[in-house]
Amino acid sequence: MTGGAGFLGSHLCKRLLQRDDRVICVDNLSTGSLRNIADLQDCDTFQFITHDVSRPLEIVDDVDCVMHLASPASPIDFAKIPIQILKVGGLGTHNMLGLAKAKGARFLLASTSEVYGDPLVHPQPETYWGNVNPIGERSVYDEAKRYAEAMTMAYHHHHGLDVAIVRIFNTYGPQMRPDDGRVVSNFVTQALANKPITVYGDGMQTRSFCYVDDQISGQLALLDSDCHGPVNIGNDKEWTMLDLARLVLKATNSTSEIVFQPLPNDDPTRRRPDLTLANQTLGWKPQISLEEGLEKTVAYFAS
Ligand code: NAD
Ligand code: UDP
Repeated sequence: MTGGAGFLGSHLCKRLLQRDDRVICVDNLSTGSLRNIADLQDCDTFQFITHDVSRPLEIVDDVDCVMHLASPASPIDFAKIPIQILKVGGLGTHNMLGLAKAKGARFLLASTSEVYGDPLVHPQPETYWGNVNPIGERSVYDEAKRYAEAMTMAYHHHHGLDVAIVRIFNTYGPQMRPDDGRVVSNFVTQALANKPITVYGDGMQTRSFCYVDDQISGQLALLDSDCHGPVNIGNDKEWTMLDLARLVLKATNSTSEIVFQPLPNDDPTRRRPDLTLANQTLGWKPQISLEEGLEKTVAYFAS
């Protein structure tokens, strides 16, 4: 697994080890942390390799599956490390597809709802091609993932590689970085410190938030299936950012005030996954409400 020391990757490593899979976790620790995998290091079936997957990687052991999650994912990183993001989505994906081909492994790409850009179709089914600004600040991420999807399907059609693409919608939960910059970790850490909650724009833009355990179950169901995707995995209840701020205030019993700050360029106006395909092909549905997931997330950040 690449990106295994990150938020989603570390949860995936844990769940794979729990079901007796062997895991080789490859990460350059650019946005991940060894803290996330500290409790796995003693496990005989877990191995950690520090490596930038934008450079080729040789693995001696047999490999059944390559899960490619490596990529910074927070909008605050788009301006800070744009070239690295393009490289890991482009070169990194190519290198990991090469590894999967050499090993005869199934390849799973962690793609994103950002491939839909600022969507003109709502909710978003996998058949929608998206509305992406190809040269804006977010494009380094959106276009890298779109290229990664194209490269993955080219390996499937041209080389017959067994592939799967998951389009991940906003996911939150324990092990997010407190300073990650994404909305749930920002609001929760701000509320717990009784500091102002920073709502960007008028707060009427929407997202749909998936609790991490649901997200991991969906990805494992896809990994274990013979489906190639792309498949949306997320939660289909839609919230405005203002409603999310109010919910976080309630969940934390906070006295924070809500303040409004400028909306980042090309910030999608609304986003909600159409989960029909995941439900029909994988028999998967999210189970955990935002209220319940926030409670667990608040407990994590509070401790
Ligand atoms: P994260 O930043 O916590 O994890 C990414 C991991 O990749 C980190 O451990 C980082 O150190 C590692 N990494 C980055 N560049 C690398 C490189 N060149 N070589 C090796 N390792 C590298 O982010 P996350 O939220 O866990 O996201 C994981 C994946 O899921 C990403 O591909 C992201 O695009 C995708 N995704 C996540 C969400 C979400 O809501 N969390 C939504 C859509 C897509
Ligand atoms: N957002 C916000 N305040 C913050 C961080 C984010 O209002 O402190 C908004 C952001 O403008 C976007 C939404 O929350 O509309 C989700 O942002 P995030 O960075 O979590 O993910 P995105 O879906 O934009 O990639």
